[in-house]
Formats: sequence, structure tokens, C-alpha cells
Amino acid sequence: MPDVRAFPYRMLSWNVVFGVGAIERLPGEMDRLGLANALVLTTPGQAAGGRELLATLGDRAVGHFDQAAMHVPAETVDQATHVARQLAADCTVSIGGGSTIGLGKALASRLGLRNVAIPTTYAGSEMTNIWGITEGSRKDTGRDDAVMPDLAIYDPELTLTLSPAVTASSGLNALAQAVANVPSNDADVAAMALEAVRLISRHLPIVVNNPAAVDARSELLWGACLAGGALGAGTTGLHHRLCHILGGTFGTPHAETHAVLLPHSVACNAAATGQAVRKIAEAMGVADAAIGIFELAEAIGAPRALKDLGIEPGDLERVVAIAMETPISDAAPVTEPALRKLLEDAFLGRRPQP
Ligand code: NAD
Repeated sequence: MPDVRAFPYRMLSWNVVFGVGAIERLPGEMDRLGLANALVLTTPGQAAGGRELLATLGDRAVGHFDQAAMHVPAETVDQATHVARQLAADCTVSIGGGSTIGLGKALASRLGLRNVAIPTTYAGSEMTNIWGITEGSRKDTGRDDAVMPDLAIYDPELTLTLSPAVTASSGLNALAQAVANVPSNDADVAAMALEAVRLISRHLPIVVNNPAAVDARSELLWGACLAGGALGAGTTGLHHRLCHILGGTFGTPHAETHAVLLPHSVACNAAATGQAVRKIAEAMGVADAAIGIFELAEAIGAPRALKDLGIEPGDLERVVAIAMETPISDAAPVTEPALRKLLEDAFLGRRPQP
């Protein structure tokens, strides 16, 4: 009997304001949503932006917590919970990357606070129902619609301060989310993912070479928004699992790990996802998706080898063992030899073979 298509379908609900100067719409949008007592969240590095936001919000804001940190440490969530309770906040407004938006999600989960996300990187967390909290060296993640931001405001001008290096890795993080969802059975998720591949691959090199190009920043950010949407409504597979293991167990940086692994996870899955891989290559304007992504990473100066992210040769077997502990939902079952080859190629930063 031929394969008969069968799948569930459920779409997330998004509320997005996108455009240069969009941040000016925040007070009005908050009034529309009935949000009156906001706790502004930032990292220490973006505290100045948080203070500006506090001034813009006037009496719609009750305070500013500026200690958001990479991977949402549990102790940071505890501190922010205490501050939110003391100030009787009814919502959070996170301005920053995935770490800050992740803190807003953690408070949504713990205190039931509504949350507004103003992304300043290409991580895409504002479009997903995925949360993550790190306790010691263990990062727990899950999906819960209660953490979905009530509003995401995308203003490309807020990304102008991102360095070319962070832009490169963060853009490839977004590309990984899109690539994972091009094979989706949901026509809208697949279409979002493919358009994200096209936008990101075209505009990422332009932005890295000219970080002040607002029009290219805008197209790249739109690509990241679509990629985050595809991840939120779609799925993750082998690639994200490996990034999670490397980041969680070995402390490799999030976006850089995506950047290094992506060409190799695409190469590993190429046979099983033939049609999708051809579509990705076509959207990128290249002959081979894995090689195209590798060359894109090379062109924008992104990290290309796990050995440059602090991984030792002896760590690879441990990654294989952890990855094989639970079945990986991917286009085809992932075998141990295939996984070993993927990791060895990524460790050395080898060019994928067609
Ligand atoms: P990040 O949020 O940790 O930001 C990295 C650094 O860049 C921070 O110091 C931040 O303050 C600074 N920064 C951010 N925007 C800036 C700007 N415009 N100019 C100057 N500096 C700026 O990094 P990230 O890659 O955005 O997020 C990574 C985290 O997000 C990880 O914990 C990852 O697991 C999570 N994430 C979650 C999802 C999800 O759906 N839940 C999706 C992607 C990433």
C-alpha cells in the first residue's frame, strides 16, 4: 500500500508588529492588550536600552530587572520572580535575545504573567511556545502555550548594534530552525520555513558585510521571524537534539553550536529528505544545500568546527551515547555510524561531500 498522508494540524496564535520604528507602538499596543504594570527585562549588557524603555513606558512600567543571563539559570528566575512579586507586575516586557525572552517565558510559566517580547537578535524565541530553564549543567525545555508572548515587536533598528560575529551565528541559528521545518507536512509551516531560508541566506552575508544596512537587517529579521514561527508551529529533530546536548552537557555557546553543526546535520539527513533538501538548495540558489550552508558560514566568518568551541575529541563518544539514549524523531532513523560521522566532520569543520 502506498504511503497515505496522515498528520495532526494545530497552528499557534501570533500577534506581531514589524517595522522600522515599531517600538514606538509599544505603549499603544500594551493599552490595547490591557497590560498596565510591566516589569522590563534585559541582560546587564542591554540595561541602558531597558532604562530607555522604562522611560518610554512611563506609568505602564513598575520596574526593571537587568540580570537576564544565557540559558535562563534557575537562580535568575528566582530573583526575577521575587522582584516581579514585590512590584506587583502584571506582565513582562523583554528586550533582548533568546535569553532575555526566555526569562519572560519562565515568569509567564511560574507566575502567570503575560509577556511582551522585543527581539534584538535572530534567535526567534518570541514566536515559539518553547521554554527552557537551566539548573546546574542541566537544561530542561518543554512546550507550553502559556509562555507564548502576547505580543512580539520587531524593530530592525534595534539589531543595528549586533556585531557581525553575533549576527553571523544568530542568523545561522535562525536558518537551522527554518531548514528543520522545510519538510513539514503542514503547508503553511513548510512555506514559512522555505521563505525564511530564502530571506536569511540572501541577506545574512549583506548584513555581516554592512551591519548598518537597515533594509537588509529588516529582511533578515523578517526571515528570523518566519523561522521562529516555523519552529514554534513545527518541530525539531536531530540537529536541535545535538545542539541541546552540546550546549547542555559541554557548555558550548547556543548560536555558534547551531552554526557549526547545521551543514553536517543537513548532509546527514540529505538522503532521507531528498525533496526538501532540493527545495532548500533552490531557495538558497546553490547546487547542494549542505555545501551551500557550509560556504555561507565560511563567507560570513561563522565558527565552523566544534574543536574551536571547546569540544575535545574524547567528548564525541559521550555525545553519541547521550543522543542514542532516546529515539530521535527525524526524517529517517539516525544510526550510530551516521551520527559518529556527522560529529567527526563537525569537530574538524570538514567541508560536506556531495
Ligand atoms: P542571548 O539572548 O544570550 O544574547 C547574547 C548576548 O547578546 C547578550 O549579552 C545580549 O544582551 C546581547 N545582545 C542581544 N541583542 C543585542 C543587540 N541588538 N546589540 C548588542 N548586543 C545584543 O543570545 P541568543 O542567541 O539571542 O539566545 C540564546 C538563548 O535563547 C539560548 O538560551 C537558547 O536556548 C534560547 N532560544 C530559545 C528559543 C525558544 O524557542 N525558546 C529559540 C532560540 C533560542
